Amino acid sequence: MSSGQGLYKNDSTLPRSHRMTRQCGVILKELRRENSHPSADELYDKVRRILPRISLATVYRNLEKLCDLGLIQKHEFSGTSNRFDGVPEQHYHIRCTCCDRVEDAPVEMFQNIEKQLSQATTFKVIGHRLEFVGLCPACSDHMVSPGLEKLYRKKAGNKQIST
Ligand SMILES: [Zn+2]
Ligand SMILES: [Zn+2]
Repeated sequence: MSSGQGLYKNDSTLPRSHRMTRQCGVILKELRRENSHPSADELYDKVRRILPRISLATVYRNLEKLCDLGLIQKHEFSGTSNRFDGVPEQHYHIRCTCCDRVEDAPVEMFQNIEKQLSQATTFKVIGHRLEFVGLCPACSDHMVSPGLEKLYRKKAGNKQIST
């Protein structure tokens, strides 16, 4: 009985751990390929092209594992589902309020802000988050054109009334 159990254990554990490592590697590679800060669902769609049999649950599990290992980061941006970041170092982001596209903000981190707060509060400060918001180029193009059109139409209308 014990030897049978041992055999079963070996048979199932070895390939599984091997599979986990490969899946984990593919997920990490896909996450780092573009710096688009995808949600787990978006990443799942990409990973599925390479590993067609992978499940969403497996993607979630591996993402958590990679977070625990400090290889990636999980962000909770306001109003969006969790997004994953292949860059493990702390950095700021800018998010489009229209389409939720997130990019790294190429600015330096505030080094002294936590120290300043530590001196001013009884909290033990362990970090800070800063999210810039704005409109991405695609959305600002899209939003400006119909807006201007409306403005012109309004102006034309006013003219007609006033004259
Ligand atoms: Zn946008
Ligand atoms: Zn980032």
